[in-house]
Amino acid sequence: MGRPSRMKNSGRVAGRAVGAWRRLVVTVEADAAAVERRLAAGGIACPDCGGVLDRWAWARRRVLRGVDGVAVVVRPRRTLCRACGHSHVLLPVFALLRRADVAAVVGAGLAGRAVGSGARTIAGRLGVPAATVRGWLRRFAARAQAVRVVFTALLVDLGPDPAAPDPAGSVFADAVAAITALTAAVGRRWSAPVGVWQCACAASGGRLLAPGWPGA
Ligand SMILES: [Zn+2]
Repeated sequence: MGRPSRMKNSGRVAGRAVGAWRRLVVTVEADAAAVERRLAAGGIACPDCGGVLDRWAWARRRVLRGVDGVAVVVRPRRTLCRACGHSHVLLPVFALLRRADVAAVVGAGLAGRAVGSGARTIAGRLGVPAATVRGWLRRFAARAQAVRVVFTALLVDLGPDPAAPDPAGSVFADAVAAITALTAAVGRRWSAPVGVWQCACAASGGRLLAPGWPGA
């Protein structure tokens, strides 16, 4: 069955920190063929009960806005748990739940705000409507403190000697710094660089900007 992927591991860590919060979506690696192989081998666990997820159907095909406006087609797998019968959608680790842009684009916007850029500037740089950027920023700002707490907890969970980020000047920037710090720690732990916003996807199960996350 091979070694579990880094993202799978960080997702599992996230599950521990977030506790009993029930997940309908499981974040998986970007390589769809690898996901199919892992499913066939019974290698993806149900987030509710730890049972084996089986292939079931496909979710609706969606076209996401990728980096530099390149369209990214996703057709997430629907699965059923052999043990508890719950269905779970497998969301690739570059996608955020209910967002039309890939995580790297949304994340670039959040990182831009963290260093003081305004929504219109960010929108122009990313080629995304300003209203869309304002939506990301509002949602993230409203949960920034909770995001910081979750990612800091994951960071502490990961390393024997985690380097906590210095105060970044605002709660918003502190939250982005916590995500960046966790990413660096994940990269060190599994000796491979990980994208910051893929790490954010894995740790939040794709819910970084989705309703009800974290906790709540
Ligand atoms: Zn289950």
